[in-house]
Amino acid sequence: MIDVSELSKSYGAIQALRDVTFSIADGEIVGLLGPNGAGKTTIIKILTGYLQPDGGVVRVNGLDVLEQPREVQAQIGYLPETAPLYPELTVQAYLMMMAELRQIPVAEQLAALSAAVYATGLQAHLTRPIGQLSKGFRQRVGLAQAILHRPKLLILDEPTVGLDPTQIVEIRHLIRRLSRHSTILFSTHILSEVEALCDRAIILINGQIKADARLAELAATTNAVLVLEKALPDVVGALRELEQASDVEPFTSTDGFPAYRIFGQPETGGALGPAIYDLARAHEWPVRELRRDTRTLEMVFNELATAGEVTA
Ligand code: ATP
Repeated sequence: MIDVSELSKSYGAIQALRDVTFSIADGEIVGLLGPNGAGKTTIIKILTGYLQPDGGVVRVNGLDVLEQPREVQAQIGYLPETAPLYPELTVQAYLMMMAELRQIPVAEQLAALSAAVYATGLQAHLTRPIGQLSKGFRQRVGLAQAILHRPKLLILDEPTVGLDPTQIVEIRHLIRRLSRHSTILFSTHILSEVEALCDRAIILINGQIKADARLAELAATTNAVLVLEKALPDVVGALRELEQASDVEPFTSTDGFPAYRIFGQPETGGALGPAIYDLARAHEWPVRELRRDTRTLEMVFNELATAGEVTA
């Protein structure tokens, strides 16, 4: 659905994007995650044909955005960071106007409007001026205009920014519902948003992609955690002797038992668990738990962000 290759963009001396390359398949819901100023909005503006890149190729559904921006825009539903709403218009009048602008044939406008209103739960608010709606409902109106023409691809720039926790949950439900019919790319700087909504994240830092993987892959490590029923002498020493281990860090588990994080070597990561198991059996350690260590998205993000600061 989306193919971006070696995209670059500068604003004067500021290089906002450097060699950004990624693809998104039909039906995926992908979070574009990055701190403020990472370049998320710049990617989205280029994808939606509102900004020219300095270099690179962007294809949406096989069409080159630079060569056929109108055709591409017809296939995309776009919710910008601040949706261009008209506060004095009623929801209905605004959506009718957008249907007109989207060049939806008159005979189909009513059906398109009803479908968008129903999908976004705006039925009871059609006759209210947009300016009188809460921020969460205004965001729904923004989403309704984005899906009016039944786009195959929805691009949402920080869709929950500025909303309260209840509104955030509602908009997330809505986005998940919309993902049944459209491929979705949304930007956010909120890690939990990505965890709640999608199974793949593209992490952008300083205009470069630092990670692009399914959340389960991002969370995976080559480390293991061993928890014992009671403390014993020289466990750390014995674990350190394993050729598959690069280091061992003792700690106390959340339920108060002696625990050890064993850092694997990337090359022999898969063999670490069985090696620890054999060692524990040989020493007759009272093993309470042996598991693969995982990282939260927050840990991944912080590692990448810190590395970015060092190289910046
Ligand atoms: P945020 O989460 O704060 O919206 P972002 O990840 O969307 O950030 P961008 O808005 O794409 O980031 O900005 C990337 C970089 O480009 C930033 O350093 C920003 O200051 C700069 N930038 C963006 N738009 C312009 C502009 N019109 N003129 C000059 N610099 C700009």
